[in-house]
Amino acid sequence: MLSLIPLEISTVDDIPEALRDAIPSREPQNRRDPSTLGIVIIGSLVGVVAIAVGSISWFTWQASQVQLLEVVPEATEETKSSVTKAIISPAKTTTPATDALLKHFPYSEATGSELAPIVADGSLKLRKAAAAEFLAMVDAARMEGVNLVPISGFRSLADQEYLFFQIKAQRGQVSTERSEVSAPPGYSEHHTGYAVDIGDGNVPATHLSHNFERTAAFKWLQANAAYFSFELSFPRNNPQGVSYEPWHWRFTGDRHSLETFYKDRQK
Ligand SMILES: [Zn+2]
Repeated sequence: MLSLIPLEISTVDDIPEALRDAIPSREPQNRRDPSTLGIVIIGSLVGVVAIAVGSISWFTWQASQVQLLEVVPEATEETKSSVTKAIISPAKTTTPATDALLKHFPYSEATGSELAPIVADGSLKLRKAAAAEFLAMVDAARMEGVNLVPISGFRSLADQEYLFFQIKAQRGQVSTERSEVSAPPGYSEHHTGYAVDIGDGNVPATHLSHNFERTAAFKWLQANAAYFSFELSFPRNNPQGVSYEPWHWRFTGDRHSLETFYKDRQK
């Protein structure tokens, strides 16, 4: 807001220019006639008052513009937050994805020709783009003294069939219980060839355990995995509702992988 003082100073700044217009009416030839002089003086005073009133009006108007400038950004922020609320609110009320099974989404199995090995004996594989980035990530971690080891990569439907049903029976787990730690066959990110379970080679006891989050490997991954386009699939309190898996990372570094994990599932 403009204070009264700068308003007066600004008015003074403005008046001399206006007075220059009034000066010609005070030229010497008019001074001899007192009545003319009186008219001129009155006229000039009226002019000065008019200019002063005009100036004050102009500054009042200018002040109102300043007020508007101050108000508009707030109004814009308010509008933005209303828009944000409008965008967020429907998302909270949307129905869960209809194609999920026990909170896991369906995935198609990568074919053998799309896969590349990530260990010397070829027993673990990822889709080619993911494999290249994974190996680069392992090298980068090693340079910093961190030992990332792959525990599981691509899994076939048959692999997941065994992991889900056989282990469930062996452990006497009910389906909902088993699904908290393993996806049903056809619903595992590992089918895509983009998901990899990672351990700390220096602390094998933490493999596939929540304690993995305390290792140097996990801390390194948290800070660096995104540089290789890997991200944690199931962080704590993930919207999918799957239990926390600090060891399970997925590649989203190309269009196909991004679509695989992020394409709208409501359709
Ligand atoms: Zn996994």
